[in-house]
Amino acid sequence: MNLRRCFLVGALSALFATGASAQQAWPTKPVTLVVPFAAGGPTDVVARTLGASISRTLGQTVVIENKLGAGGTVAAAYVARSAPDGYTFFIHHNGMATSTALYRKLSYNPLTDFEFVSQAVDVPMTLLARKDFPANTLPELVAYVKANKDKINLANAGLGAVSQLCGMLFERALDVKLTAVPFQGTAPAMNALLGGQVDILCDQTTQTIPQIKAGSVKFYGVTTKTRIKALPDAPTLNEQGLKDFEVIVWHGIYAPKGTPKPIIDRMNGAVRAALKDPEVMKRMADLGAEIAPDSKLSPEGLQTWLKAEIDKWGPIIRSTGTFAD
Ligand code: ASP
Repeated sequence: MNLRRCFLVGALSALFATGASAQQAWPTKPVTLVVPFAAGGPTDVVARTLGASISRTLGQTVVIENKLGAGGTVAAAYVARSAPDGYTFFIHHNGMATSTALYRKLSYNPLTDFEFVSQAVDVPMTLLARKDFPANTLPELVAYVKANKDKINLANAGLGAVSQLCGMLFERALDVKLTAVPFQGTAPAMNALLGGQVDILCDQTTQTIPQIKAGSVKFYGVTTKTRIKALPDAPTLNEQGLKDFEVIVWHGIYAPKGTPKPIIDRMNGAVRAALKDPEVMKRMADLGAEIAPDSKLSPEGLQTWLKAEIDKWGPIIRSTGTFAD
């Protein structure tokens, strides 16, 4: 080997060694988990519960950063542009799929601009109204909304939020269009519902169970096809006549494209450990969230799921004519 070649090989192996040991040492500083909605809301609760356990496994703080706006697409675009250095991760729900049909122009591609880490939990939604809303049961709600559609508003967390998806399916089932009132998450939307400033909200059990149990909202049913353990007496919307009404909120964890595979694999291990952590399991069960099945916990499992969800929701959303430019 001549001297120049010898130098080159030496330099390259030093470079690989630095890269490899950097990955082994990861994380050497706090890791950020970006949440696309307001603090205190359903997605934030899932992120903070998982984040606390992940941080115990990794031995580093997991910092939650709430990046708000445009139904989660501001955060997704931010993460897609972030450095793929293992210090930025992203948690998002069905909105990662539905936004592709809701927005004519997205500055990122959910399937190609991210690394896939894992899914986490599946969460039912609940259909609610403000406490003094005239309808007491789902049939009363359906009749009242049909008769007063011009006067009723529907809170959501913007185009791309599951509250928007659920509200849109409710409108589609009743063949009405209500006035949407968007917030930057359903934590502020719930405050507005409790304050009587908005009429109807569909939101995850991770936020709504305490309000339902306290009787501070009107509650019409859950959005799963079968009843849920956390609210065993609560009927489903489907069994009360909204045939095939189903929204289950799944959560994916992503990283910017190009984040090294060994880091993705270690984060995947930390998420899996969190989902077996008794503290996480108890909190999730109390909030109606189900730990995602094993088949969804691999990076490939999330990627396949996201693709299927884009294919599933695209035609449904397009049939409603809902979109933003
Ligand atoms: N529940 C919200 C949604 O509708 C998001 C949130 O605030 O967590 O997508």
